[in-house]
Amino acid sequence: MSTQRFDAVVVGAGFAGLYMIHLLRSEGLSVQGVERAAGVGGTWYWNRYPGCRCDVESIDYSYQFSQALEQDWVWTERYAAQPEILAYAEHVAKRFDLLPLIRFETSVTRAHYDERAHRWTVETDKGDVFDTRFLIMGTGCLSAANTPDFPGLRNFTGRTFHTGLWPQNGVDFTGRRVGIIGTGSSAIQSIPIIATQAADLTVFQRTANFSVPARNRPVDPATVARVKANYADYRRRARQQPAAFGPDNPRNADSVLAATPEERTRRFEEYWQLGGFMFLGAFGDLAFSEEANAYAAEFVRSKIRETVKDPSTAELLSPKGIIGCKRLCADTGYYETFNRANVHLVDVSRQPIERFTAKGLVTGGQEYAFDDVVFATGFDAMTGSLLRIDIRGKGGVSLNEKWAAGPLTYLGLMVAGFPNLFTMTGPGSPSVLANMVTGVEQHAEYIRDVIGWLRDADAAAVEAEPHAEDEWVQAVNARSQMTLFPRCNSWYLGANVPGKPRVFMPYIGFPDYSAKLESVRAANFAGFALQR
Ligand SMILES: Cc1cc2nc3c(=O)[nH]c(=O)nc-3n(C[C@H](O)[C@H](O)[C@H](O)COP(=O)(O)OP(=O)(O)OC[C@H]3O[C@@H](n4cnc5c(N)ncnc54)[C@H](O)[C@@H]3O)c2cc1C
Repeated sequence: MSTQRFDAVVVGAGFAGLYMIHLLRSEGLSVQGVERAAGVGGTWYWNRYPGCRCDVESIDYSYQFSQALEQDWVWTERYAAQPEILAYAEHVAKRFDLLPLIRFETSVTRAHYDERAHRWTVETDKGDVFDTRFLIMGTGCLSAANTPDFPGLRNFTGRTFHTGLWPQNGVDFTGRRVGIIGTGSSAIQSIPIIATQAADLTVFQRTANFSVPARNRPVDPATVARVKANYADYRRRARQQPAAFGPDNPRNADSVLAATPEERTRRFEEYWQLGGFMFLGAFGDLAFSEEANAYAAEFVRSKIRETVKDPSTAELLSPKGIIGCKRLCADTGYYETFNRANVHLVDVSRQPIERFTAKGLVTGGQEYAFDDVVFATGFDAMTGSLLRIDIRGKGGVSLNEKWAAGPLTYLGLMVAGFPNLFTMTGPGSPSVLANMVTGVEQHAEYIRDVIGWLRDADAAAVEAEPHAEDEWVQAVNARSQMTLFPRCNSWYLGANVPGKPRVFMPYIGFPDYSAKLESVRAANFAGFALQR
C-alpha cells in the first residue's frame, strides 16, 4: 500500500480525537484520524455494559467549544447513560463533519520518528502507512482493557465479557448463572442491573471500594435553563474547581477535626443526600489528613451497615482504607443489591481466583459454576493504550524503554526525545482526576497553539526539553505527596496491573495546572524547544 502524507495523524475518535481533528482542520492542516472502533465515542462506544453512565454531571461532562452545541443539546438525566453520551459524540462528529476524516476499524500499531525528515511514519493493522509531521495520541486513559491472565481461562465453556469491550447489541442474562470479577466503578454500576436479570449473580471481590449514591434523576429544567442562560460563566467557574466541574456544588473548607460529633454527622448526611462526588466536599481536609479522612470513611461504612442486612456481607463490603484515594464510585442501589437472595459475595482477597475450569472458576478450593463470567477488571490506565503501540522517537528509543520506570512527560503533553508527538490527557496532566471533556478541550487547544507557534517560527519540529520534563515530573510527584492519593493501591498508581511501575500518574488540581500552561505560553512556550 502506498504511503499517504498528512500534516497530522490523530489516533482515537473519542472526545479527545474528535475535537483535535476539528481544530487542526480549522487551522488548514491535512488531518487523518484513525480509530480502532467502528464508530466514534471512545469510552462510550466500548463501555456498553448495563448501568454505564458518567459520574460527572452531564451539564459539566460535555463540550464547551461551541456555544450553539451547548445550547442545542438536551441531556435527559443528571448523569447521562452510555447510549445518550454515545449519541452526543455521534451528533458532534456529524455536526462538525468529522466522519470523512476518520479511518475506522483500524488500529495504529507502529509509529517511528525520522530525525532527518522530522516526520513520523505511522503504520496500521490494515497495512496503511501514513507519513505525518505531527502525531497526536487521543488514545484514551481508560481504553486498554485489563483482563488478568487467569490460568485455564481458555478452558471455560461459558460466555465471557469485559465491561470495557461490551457487545454492541447488549447481553441478555435472563435466567443465567453469572459471575462478575471486580468491584470497581464498572462493577458497581452494572451489578444492580445484572442482578435483576440473572438467575444467580456471584460477585468476586478482592478489595471493597467506597461508593456513594449517585442520586441520578431526570434533569431539572430550571437548573438547565439557569446554566444555559450564562453557560460561559458556568464553565469559567467550573474550570476554577479542583476537578473542573460542579461550580455550584457546595464545598466546605472546615476541618472535620474541629467539628463536634453531631456537626460531623449532620454535615456528612447533608452531603450524602446531595449525591455523587460532592460527598467529599463535606469538609476541607478529607483529601489531606488520614485522621480527618477516617471520619468520612466510617460514615460510609455506617451507611453500608444500615443498608446491607447480613452483617458479614456488610462487613466484607466495607472498605478498610482511605476514602477517595482510589477512584470513588457513585452508584444506584449497589449496596441494596446484596440484600437480594440471588446475589452472593465471595471474598478473594486472601484466596485469589486460582484457575478457570470448563464449568467456571475455582477459589478457596471451591468450584463455582457459571453460564457467563463478566470481567469488570478495569484498564491498564493512562499509559496502556500508548505502550501497546510500538512508538519510537529519536535514536530509535521506544516509549516503552523511556517509560520503563514510569511515565515521563512535560505537562502531560510531550515526551523529551519524541518530537512532534503529543499525548492528550497524558500522565502528568489532571486527566482522570478532572472532568475529562474539559481536559481534552484544554489539551486540543494547547496543542493547536504549540503547532501554530512552530509554524509561525517556520520550524520543523517541537520537543519537550529534558530539564523541563524532569522538573515537571518532580512537580507532579511533589503535588501528589501533599495528599492521601499515593497511599492506596489504585490504578492511578498502576497498582492493578502486575509489573507496572508504581508511580502516581495524574497531576492533582486543574486550576494550578491551567495556570502553569498559561505561564508557559506567556514565556514563549518555555520548556518546548523548536528544531529547524
Ligand atoms: C465507564 C467509564 C465512565 C467514565 N465516566 C467519566 C465521567 O463521568 N467523567 C469523566 O470526566 N470521565 C469519565 N470517564 C473517563 C473517559 O474515558 C473520558 O471522560 C473520555 O471519554 C476520554 O476521551 P478520550 O477521547 O480521551 O479517550 P477514549 O474515549 O478512551 O477514546 C480513545 C479511543 O482511542 C482508540 N484507540 C486507542 N488505541 C488505538 C490505536 N492504537 N489505534 C486506533 N485507535 C486507538 C480507542 O479505540 C478509543 O476509541 C469514564 C470512563 C469509563 C471507562
